[in-house]
Amino acid sequence: MSDIDTFRAETRAWLDANCPKSMRTPMVEEEVVWGGRRQQYPNPDSKVWLERMAAKGWTAPTWPMKYGGGGLSQEQAIVLDQELKAIHARAPLASFGLWMLGPVLLEYANEEQKQRFLPDIVHGRTRWCQGYSEPGAGSDLASLQTKCEDKGDHWLINGSKIWTSYANHADWIFCLVRTDTTKKHEGISFVLFDMTTPGVETKPILLISGSSPFCETFMTDVKVPKEQMISSPGKGWDIAKRLLQYERQNISATGFGSDRNASQSLGEIAKKYIGLNKEGVLADGDLRGRIAKQMMYEHAFALTVRRNVEMAKAGADVGPGTSIIKYAAAKMNQNKTELQVEAMGHQGLGWEGDAFRPGELLATRAFLRAKGNSIEGGTSEVNLNVVAKRVLGLRDHQ
Ligand SMILES: Cc1cc2nc3c(=O)[nH]c(=O)nc-3n(C[C@H](O)[C@H](O)[C@H](O)COP(=O)(O)OP(=O)(O)OC[C@H]3O[C@@H](n4cnc5c(N)ncnc54)[C@H](O)[C@@H]3O)c2cc1C
Repeated sequence: MSDIDTFRAETRAWLDANCPKSMRTPMVEEEVVWGGRRQQYPNPDSKVWLERMAAKGWTAPTWPMKYGGGGLSQEQAIVLDQELKAIHARAPLASFGLWMLGPVLLEYANEEQKQRFLPDIVHGRTRWCQGYSEPGAGSDLASLQTKCEDKGDHWLINGSKIWTSYANHADWIFCLVRTDTTKKHEGISFVLFDMTTPGVETKPILLISGSSPFCETFMTDVKVPKEQMISSPGKGWDIAKRLLQYERQNISATGFGSDRNASQSLGEIAKKYIGLNKEGVLADGDLRGRIAKQMMYEHAFALTVRRNVEMAKAGADVGPGTSIIKYAAAKMNQNKTELQVEAMGHQGLGWEGDAFRPGELLATRAFLRAKGNSIEGGTSEVNLNVVAKRVLGLRDHQ
């Protein structure tokens, strides 16, 4: 038996013995584990599952073991992923620390910072939020103005952020600040601080889906210890860009979490609401064609993601290519949620009340929430610009 086959057999046996039965069912929104100081466990199995996976470092399978990671090769990580999928295991931890911050800390942080922050991410002990966007700095992120002054023994931060996802639930923030007002990109730095630091305030913003996943974040005379800046002053822009690549890659890989509540495929939903014709296929021929097209798109998307993984394994720089995937994932999820609502007819247009089943209300809200997919993590237009310039090598239009 090859080493990888042995690893597969051992992984399968371990998962069989350690993944609780209720963790092999579709994820329910209230049971998603984001970790952090205030994490509650409505289902105690979620806690068991997180602790077991984190103890093996399998919440961060490829991170080095000395920082709490699993130390797996890319090939072993793919096998682990396949075995988890085979038993329909839930992700033990959803975390901006795992998806975005950790990978850049591995690349840019000093040893002390890695030792301090990475193990807490692996174990879900710290919940992180992302302080990038500001009222005047979204797509043109480098225009950010949040001021960070060197006060000798600490940094002093003043300014505000917007659209900070889950800032009101987070323990810590990774934040882009301006240490030099005379230079645009080279004046940006990357700092980490505790959200309970005096002077930090958050104010939730309501989304059209009815949920309130993000906030305005205000910082007034926030004192940050010197050792909480990653790399040196003015080097934050490189870290920021790299982190965005991880963010886009992750958004794409999880397909915006669109399948989290999906117990039925689009085709099954359409059959249930519309019915079959005498040939035994979906009665609405036009919708049938569009659902088939969507399924082909999803299949092509999965193959493209797979190709990127293989290219990364072979050492290719797939960084700018994540913009293709992020763009396509947004389009795919928006189409899918729209088709779902269309198939449900008026039952897909409910907001609340007994006239609608829970799955129908979820579909309406998922459709509305998906509108943000082409904005979050970089808008579709901006990602297309990246593809034009950095992937296709096209020049700016004069
Ligand atoms: C659900 C959600 C969660 C988010 N979470 C976070 C978070 O946790 N932390 C955080 O910091 N931010 C977060 N954001 C903010 C997000 O990163 C920004 O909204 C995004 O970068 C766009 O910035 P903006 O909203 O200022 O729009 P703008 O940059 O003002 O863009 C407005 C429009 O102009 C277009 N446009 C702008 N520049 C160009 C160009 N050069 N070429 C062509 N078209 C262009 C855009 O595509 C868009 O259509 C979140 C956003 C959403 C929707």
